[in-house]
Amino acid sequence: MTFTTVYYEPDSLNYPLGKQLREQYKSLPWIPIESHNRIPELTARDNRDFARMKQYLIIGTRKTHRYVENQKISDYLVPFTSSGCSAMCLYCYLVCNYNKCSYLRLFVNREQMLDRLIRTSHKTGSPCVFEIGSNSDLLLENTVTQNLEQVIPAFAKEGRGQLTFPTKFDMVEPLLSLDHRGKTIFRMSVNPNEIIRRVELGTSPLEKRISALNRMAEAGYPAGLLIAPVILLDGWKTLYGELIDQLADTLSGKTRKSLPIEIILMTYSYVHRAINQDAFPNAVELYSAEQMIGGGRGKYRYRQEHREPAEQFFREQLARKLPEAHIAYIC
Ligand code: SF4
Repeated sequence: MTFTTVYYEPDSLNYPLGKQLREQYKSLPWIPIESHNRIPELTARDNRDFARMKQYLIIGTRKTHRYVENQKISDYLVPFTSSGCSAMCLYCYLVCNYNKCSYLRLFVNREQMLDRLIRTSHKTGSPCVFEIGSNSDLLLENTVTQNLEQVIPAFAKEGRGQLTFPTKFDMVEPLLSLDHRGKTIFRMSVNPNEIIRRVELGTSPLEKRISALNRMAEAGYPAGLLIAPVILLDGWKTLYGELIDQLADTLSGKTRKSLPIEIILMTYSYVHRAINQDAFPNAVELYSAEQMIGGGRGKYRYRQEHREPAEQFFREQLARKLPEAHIAYIC
């Protein structure tokens, strides 16, 4: 990942990861900030600076650690070692929270977060699944911090239940030989290559993602697949039909065995439209007045008459082409 500037809370340099990052990026300008949540000179920037701001690295400590109950693939959403991301998917959910300031923020107090996670895992009634990647892409983050290389074996040894995180990247090499004891569920998010190229800017190509998922399954990690977000562009049935053909042809026997598949239709928002129109004027338009309806707080979702045929399409295609897998949910 190429960063151009680092903004940092001075206290971060008292932590081992803060010191490591200082050394790693010593050739860049380092600008002290009061708080990673309040950088007035960046908030004041124009939307057209969005891509430039994605090359900034923000370093601080995480102060809020409240776990949120979740009823999908995990039991709790855990605020973890980063939020924001250096990639630029045009629909990224983080833009709803952080607006144009959705650059990568790293939190250097990882020992504190890991310790809390392990302690909490022993306090739940039965073993739980903890989603640690709901605020960023941890595999991408790992290329900067190597955090997963510490967290996965530490949780395997001392934690109870399982961790999970999704990714749109393929840099799994450092994770393959870790002592994970089956306690980390690795979930790969996929889309047709044309959508990856036009919409998921800066992420890994489909073939590499599938290969990474196969390698992780081969290394014994429990695997999951997300087809997400499903975007109903013109010709979507052809695009997603070809995607499922490709998955059926290239997912290994080990990966596809009991593979849970999450299918999530895209939600979009007023904020995305405003930023994308200014920052990526030539990009594909994801908003469709004909297909979408307001879902509250400036969000848009596909109308029921467009969701239903899409759901039916995925159920039928997956049952026919990937019968060993099962749909965990469609939403
Ligand atoms: S990879 Fe994930 S976190 Fe990063 S921009 Fe894309 S959707 Fe957002």
